[in-house]
Amino acid sequence: MTEVTNVKAYGNEAADAPLKGLNINRRKPTPHDVEIDILFCGICHSDLHTARSEWGPTQYPCVPGHEIVGKVTAVGNHVDKFKVGDTVGVGCMVDSCRECQYCKEHKEQYCERGTIFTYGAPDKHLGGYTFGGYSERIVVDENYVLSISGKVDLAATAPLLCAGITTYSPMRHFRVSPGQNVGVVGIGGLGHVAIKIAKAMGAHVTAFTTSESKFEEARRLGADETVLSKDPEQMAKYAGKLHFILDAVSAKHDINAYLNLLRVDGSLVLVGVPPEPLPVAAFSLIGGSRSLAGSLIGGIKETQEMLDFCAEHNITADIEMIDIQTINEAYDRLVNGDVKYRFVIDMASLKK
Ligand code: NAP
Ligand code: ZN
Ligand code: ZN
Repeated sequence: MTEVTNVKAYGNEAADAPLKGLNINRRKPTPHDVEIDILFCGICHSDLHTARSEWGPTQYPCVPGHEIVGKVTAVGNHVDKFKVGDTVGVGCMVDSCRECQYCKEHKEQYCERGTIFTYGAPDKHLGGYTFGGYSERIVVDENYVLSISGKVDLAATAPLLCAGITTYSPMRHFRVSPGQNVGVVGIGGLGHVAIKIAKAMGAHVTAFTTSESKFEEARRLGADETVLSKDPEQMAKYAGKLHFILDAVSAKHDINAYLNLLRVDGSLVLVGVPPEPLPVAAFSLIGGSRSLAGSLIGGIKETQEMLDFCAEHNITADIEMIDIQTINEAYDRLVNGDVKYRFVIDMASLKK
């Protein structure tokens, strides 16, 4: 039997139930495990989609959280990458088969035998389902733990573990490069980090937002141009102009309006996951040999590369720190787009 310790966490027990304090078990570190005291955990819109079963039935209790930064408190006797006291991160996955073609290509998020996501995936050690970062502590195999530079702002770095890699990976894949016109749609947690990363890659960045209050602010985040996407006149000026668009919108919207902004051979990558299907008009694509693609987070190796890239370019998230006791209000504000630009939970509040 695997030895366990009981730790405090926050989660919910049904789609329509609020999040509340729970106790969960964590395994004692096995030889390849790293035990981490969680300092900060970002709140991703995926946490909310999952907690509320918006993408289909969730396994309850659900303890979300996959933007984790913390300190190593113990390591198994075969761990060689980390030692007690190191600052580390955990993102959206904690294991995969390590043998399939995609694991071997460092794309563990597409593991053929099923990626073990940080929450809501089958837990092969304890049975049941994995629990995420809204908790005091987590135990993760060293191969799925990221190194975080001691010099960065740890709370503002936490969101990079999901928002950072999810936007960095497709921009690398589609070779976003200096001089290209890049559009970012939806200036939330993912979108605001995407603006910063695209700028650091040398692109000319245009932010598309539905929120009047973000219209000017997007420039402070680094955008060269901002467009109020509800205004057809402003949108029309960008028809056929963009090489690449990253769409990070969490709700139903008209993607044809954005496909029409692509140049010939341009690509729009969906990273946002609205629960409803998005209709695509054939002419939006065939009219300019355009591509519509999707992308899911990024592999562990690329996540480390992204963290190093962001540390080098001084990129962190703009955050609003909260105590975990106010998480349900934070979720409601997230639904209303009322966050600038990522909530991060100060996990010390769990001890209150
Ligand atoms: P977020 O902070 O809530 O940002 C979403 C943004 O979408 C909002 O700030 C808003 O931007 C825009 N938006 C919201 N409702 C809208 C509507 N009805 N019409 C048009 N625009 C709307 O969410 P997030 O954490 O960045 O996540 C964004 C999406 O990406 C979520 O669906 C999440 O599940 C998904 N996600 C995917 C991956 C992946 O691997 N592919 C990873 C992480 C998250 P404006 O105010 O600027 O319009
Ligand atoms: Zn996420
Ligand atoms: Zn695999």
